[in-house]
Amino acid sequence: MSVLFTLRVKNSSRGARGIHQVRCGMSESFEVHIAKAEHVFSAAHFITFANQCERLHGHNYHVTAEITGPLDENRLVIDFLLVRRKLLEITTELDHYVLLPKQHPQIRVKENGQEVTATFAERRWVFPSGDCRLLPVPNTTSELLAAYIGQRLFEALGGVAAKIERATVKVDECDGQVGVWVHHSAG
Ligand SMILES: [Zn+2]
Repeated sequence: MSVLFTLRVKNSSRGARGIHQVRCGMSESFEVHIAKAEHVFSAAHFITFANQCERLHGHNYHVTAEITGPLDENRLVIDFLLVRRKLLEITTELDHYVLLPKQHPQIRVKENGQEVTATFAERRWVFPSGDCRLLPVPNTTSELLAAYIGQRLFEALGGVAAKIERATVKVDECDGQVGVWVHHSAG
């Protein structure tokens, strides 16, 4: 198990909670980074941009997480294995599905029990319901997939999440093409 150390200058914009002064006038904080090969999901989607709608296509999405917070009584920011397990549950839920947005202003998604129908202007896609994940996002961009996964991760971590000062979830959709969600605690 390893912990990454980050030194920040004293006038850092970060709040003081969990940051300890050291003799050289610098401050320090602690982070854990989770970047494991297991957190990959393959999924199909299409997004809109500039009023254009992509063709249906797929990605092998790679998900990583970075968490900043104070050390606990075990001198850990958070249990690596806990984060890995919860992240794997979320990525497994998305693996080998068609991802569709439930909040898109132009893509209409309707489910009748057996089938999901998506329409955009004159175009129409019909999928078996069991092949789809309908997500509470306005577009299935990597940025919003990262936000969805990050929010689900927070829920899954429960009370442990309360001490997290900052969390970053990255969704790499294509070898270095990455959507990033950053959560800052209100405190
Ligand atoms: Zn795509």
